[in-house]
Amino acid sequence: MESFKGESIIDFFDTFQTDLDCLEYLASIKWKGAFKCSKCNHNKFTIRKLNYARDCNLCHHVESPTANTIFHKVKFGIRKAFGIVFEMSATTKSLSSSQMAKRYSISRPTAWLFMHKVRSAMKSSELNPVVGTVYVDEFVYGGKEDLKQGRSNDSKKKKIVAAVEIDDEGGIKRAYFKRIDDYSSDELGKIFHSHISTQAKVKTDKWTGYKPLKMEYDIEQIKSNTSDFFQINTIIHQVKSWLRSTYSWMHEQNIEKYLDEYSYRLNRSIHKQTIFDNLITRMINQKHIGLQTIKTSK
Ligand SMILES: [Zn+2]
Repeated sequence: MESFKGESIIDFFDTFQTDLDCLEYLASIKWKGAFKCSKCNHNKFTIRKLNYARDCNLCHHVESPTANTIFHKVKFGIRKAFGIVFEMSATTKSLSSSQMAKRYSISRPTAWLFMHKVRSAMKSSELNPVVGTVYVDEFVYGGKEDLKQGRSNDSKKKKIVAAVEIDDEGGIKRAYFKRIDDYSSDELGKIFHSHISTQAKVKTDKWTGYKPLKMEYDIEQIKSNTSDFFQINTIIHQVKSWLRSTYSWMHEQNIEKYLDEYSYRLNRSIHKQTIFDNLITRMINQKHIGLQTIKTSK
């Protein structure tokens, strides 16, 4: 089956008309290279027409396209699951779990859990750190909203550090976020160690917490009220308004998952045609995730 390209929901549901269409798609990605039986390593198989499962010709172990993937045990139908993945990837702004639940006629907890599984596949591999110019700054989210920028020690607010990569034309290339407990260099260092190469040109404001990181990274500390911070401020403003409009309440521990979702879409916005296929591939390659790995929300 050819990989799906595009952003049109009409084209999407024309391509995936039945659960069987979706299973065929999963099978074509899962066994793209070559089939190898997970029990006996034999490479000859028979395809079961009912669900595109592979039946090993030697030991007759049957593996379904969803086995050992995030689609395993999805009870509400694989086509609905595909629709949710499409909307979370190809559209600019994803919906909340209650909006998604209504749209696909499933319960809110079911939508909530499945959407968290999709988010877990959106998490950065951290294998492509920024090597060019990157701005790093912190912000707070939640609690009582105020217009003050920068560091706040209000315990009700979630503290986040952002890194925004700028391209040669001054545009935004990629953005990453990490939740932090405080503004110490240990906590701020999390985003450096995950997403920034020691070769990168880093710019921060004059906060002392960044100073110890200069031992390892090329950091220039400049006044934060200059126009240099325009792009990172724009991203911070956008991510906050997206969180506020879509997720009215979230568990403290889950905020990073929503930020991963935001980064995933933003960082692939020039590859919108293939973003769905990319995300499905990630979901196949990731093992089945249970509720225990996701902090339970209400
Ligand atoms: Zn076998």
